[in-house]
Amino acid sequence: MASMRLTDSPFLLSRTRPSVHVTAGEGAYGNTCAALAQMDLSPVRGKRVLLKPNAGRLAPPGAGITTHPQVVAAAIDTFRKAGADVAVGESPIVGVKTQEAFDAIGIALIARERDCPLIDMNARRFVEVPLPHGLAIDSLKVCPEVLEYDLVVSLPVMKMHMHTGVTLAVKNMKGCLWRRSKIGFHMLPPVEGLDEKPIDIAIADMSVVLRPHLSIIDGTVGMEGLGPSAGLAKPLGVIVVSADAFAADAIACKLMGTNAEAIPHLRIGAQRGYGMIDLGRIAVTPEGWQEWGAAFSPPPEDLSLEFPNINILDKNSCSACQSTLFLFLKRYGSRLFDYFPRDTCICIAIGKGHVEVPDGTLCIGNCLARHRGNGIFIRGCPPVSSQILTAISGEPSVDSKDGHITTSDSGVAVADAPDEPKE
Ligand code: SF4
Repeated sequence: MASMRLTDSPFLLSRTRPSVHVTAGEGAYGNTCAALAQMDLSPVRGKRVLLKPNAGRLAPPGAGITTHPQVVAAAIDTFRKAGADVAVGESPIVGVKTQEAFDAIGIALIARERDCPLIDMNARRFVEVPLPHGLAIDSLKVCPEVLEYDLVVSLPVMKMHMHTGVTLAVKNMKGCLWRRSKIGFHMLPPVEGLDEKPIDIAIADMSVVLRPHLSIIDGTVGMEGLGPSAGLAKPLGVIVVSADAFAADAIACKLMGTNAEAIPHLRIGAQRGYGMIDLGRIAVTPEGWQEWGAAFSPPPEDLSLEFPNINILDKNSCSACQSTLFLFLKRYGSRLFDYFPRDTCICIAIGKGHVEVPDGTLCIGNCLARHRGNGIFIRGCPPVSSQILTAISGEPSVDSKDGHITTSDSGVAVADAPDEPKE
């Protein structure tokens, strides 16, 4: 087991005035090295360091979906130079295989060049960690490596997120949860007496134990709009480093043109004392760092507004099904009305929380299996958009690829798909 609790960062010199370092202008590798050079890395000597990038999806490097491989390369080189034994680990979203994600993202290549171990954190059985004071959740199923390594470093991408506002260093630790237990965060009932969404409260609950010792936020290319995977790439060319994940996220929020106080999981976590988001009490270097920011467009509040005559019924879906639906509507939305009467409003449902759906609803994903009698059901967890078109049109699929995600890698083949969400 780890020699120190995950929440005790040896790099954190002051809880009441944490430091954050921002770098720009040197490229992904150079910016990361320059930001880490501001830190005293002596605590890593002789320690086992686990790097946790955002490597949870199949996406090319530089698309703003996953951590840039050169940021990971710089972190490996820097921690090794400081005397650490370094590995890179990930537990991707449902339907994505870890090694295939590392290959697609470019992390497998830079790890091979450095003989650095890559860990499929889904391969072993989880460790159940109780959360006695959790409000939305009372335990976590955690990938064991996260508790075994001495130090854990969060390396997220700077992204907007349709469910949680942003996804940065704090939320990236959700990728340390074992397999399908990640999905559970989207299925939680409301917390009595609290207005915030249960997923936001659950992320704050999670931060009691899954708080990284160090955070390196990759703003080389971020994502605006419909993050975490269906938005637009936003090149920014910055890196943000801090021992306080909340402080790092607060500064990243400022660079993205938003405010950490408006992000519920950051606000709740800071109120509980897990980190600092008050910009007046964070020491940021260098002066003038704000000039490197650029406003990221927020996620759309209601997808139905973007697609007239389509009524999207979303109850407790994961971002994977939301991305599938968005990619489908972007690519094939105009063709939908070839198969439905022009003057109707088409209902499309995603998510596990539907008690009933209107007759004729397009039911997307295994979570809607029990409503298959009410309309057209598309299996998969998640399905991919060409499967949806095939189900509607009755024509064979024309695409082997769907946006950033391939059918074989992220979807479940129609004939083989289970009717319940898969692990
Ligand atoms: S079917 Fe979609 S919403 Fe349901 S668990 Fe799978 S990815 Fe999540």
